[in-house]
Amino acid sequence: MHEKCGVAAIALTERAGARPLYYSLYALQHRGQESAGIVTHDGFQQYAHVETGLVGDVFAADDLDELRGNVGIGHVRYPTSGGTDACCAQPFSVSFKSGSLGLAHNGNLVNTADVRADLEERGHAFTTWGDTEVIAHDLAHNLLEADLVRAVKRTMDRLHGSYSLTIAHDDTIMGVRDPLGNRPLCIGDLGDGYVLASESAAIDTLDGDLIRDVRPGELVVLAEDGSGFDSYQLASPPRSAGCFFEYVYFARPDSVIDGNLVYEVRRELGRRLWAENPATTDVVMPVPDSGRAFASGYAEAASEAPMSEIPAGNGDARGEAATDEGSPDVEFAEGLMKNRYVGRTFIMPSQDERERAVRLKLNPIKSTVSGKSVTLIDDSIVRGTTSTQLVELLHDAGARAVHVRIGAPPIVAPCYMGIDMASREELIASDKTTEEVRETLGADSLAYLSIDAIAETLERERPDLCLGCVTGNYPYDIDGEVTDRDVQRPAVGDASARAAGDD
Ligand code: AMP
Repeated sequence: MHEKCGVAAIALTERAGARPLYYSLYALQHRGQESAGIVTHDGFQQYAHVETGLVGDVFAADDLDELRGNVGIGHVRYPTSGGTDACCAQPFSVSFKSGSLGLAHNGNLVNTADVRADLEERGHAFTTWGDTEVIAHDLAHNLLEADLVRAVKRTMDRLHGSYSLTIAHDDTIMGVRDPLGNRPLCIGDLGDGYVLASESAAIDTLDGDLIRDVRPGELVVLAEDGSGFDSYQLASPPRSAGCFFEYVYFARPDSVIDGNLVYEVRRELGRRLWAENPATTDVVMPVPDSGRAFASGYAEAASEAPMSEIPAGNGDARGEAATDEGSPDVEFAEGLMKNRYVGRTFIMPSQDERERAVRLKLNPIKSTVSGKSVTLIDDSIVRGTTSTQLVELLHDAGARAVHVRIGAPPIVAPCYMGIDMASREELIASDKTTEEVRETLGADSLAYLSIDAIAETLERERPDLCLGCVTGNYPYDIDGEVTDRDVQRPAVGDASARAAGDD
């Protein structure tokens, strides 16, 4: 099960926890639209409300009133490509000999089958196929034999894969980030309590202050009276493997992850995209909303660049300028309008429906496009559906040329770490060169950003990032796939930007 979700947890001194959790889930709605849930505890008993649907539809005022107590956890779940699946809505909760356990999970284990088989041997019965239930059973088992911190450590030692968890063991609220820190999780101070959330935007929503990210391999236990928190470093591997795609696509631009404001990262990636592959067209145009920050960085870098440094043949504005004086006259323009009421294209199960959804979702402003050469900027190409449709749309609207620039490297392999991307066969770049992808899109040129630009922008060594989807080499051992430990570390510059179409 590939689950790309949002998690939250809260412990307050006096206020009831359900409403702040509800607001934090609203702030994390982009991380999952299939189901939402909250589990609270009032010191005596656990309360849970979990349903399929958007946060605003799942909770009525009465539901929130019934979620008693100052502490709790929450979850929003992303739809898997198979459609809705009520059995997998979270938080997952169980009661066992030593109390109640609620668990909210963002990420994906890669050894679920092994841990599950082992637990089944010992008599555990499961009601879902999800990895979260496996974690819950393993933790419940360990809590019968060890104190809280040791039990979590034992469970962490058995789990392989990515997980940011929020856990409620009775009224003790915790957060854990997997030893490689693949998915984000941060801690915030609310003045009258503490909050854990997938993204800092949820802390902002509660008018709190971001304290810091939960460290890879760290367990954070919130005091049940909201007065503080304790930290336990339960694993300290020599490397980390944060997901770069959180910065490129998934996280909110106003979130800060591991010290980086996502919006600024995207703008810087846009600037580097220009530096690696300048296209001096009349207009720089973002795919809303995913390409906006990239396009703004790209256009800014373009407007600062001396004409003399721009190689000939990149687009056609240079040819028109016919001088090496000054900077190219590049306009940033919103030429595609978004229908806000259409859900993410990925929710559509079939390719045909996905294609129609792009046209439903985005419409060109003809006067901005007609007769112009356009640089269309997006964060990523997955199946190629969006870019193909938009290139056609812009051509139909009268664009003279459409140059596509992408703020991520080609996605060539699936994600096993919790992002619902696509299978290898569905990924347009998995078996095509950049020139072949350009041809399929019908674009006049196509260029992607290099892996190095991403590592440099995030100020991380490449082995401290999970780059599985763009290299096919993963930080975790996955059946049938290569680990990034097995491959020689490529020299800097090796994964240079790939471009097609420009001379
Ligand atoms: P595609 O149309 O299949 O090439 O997908 C690329 C478009 O979908 C881009 O506009 C991205 O912003 C967006 N996108 C990228 N990854 C995902 C994902 N995992 N789920 C939903 N949308 C995505």
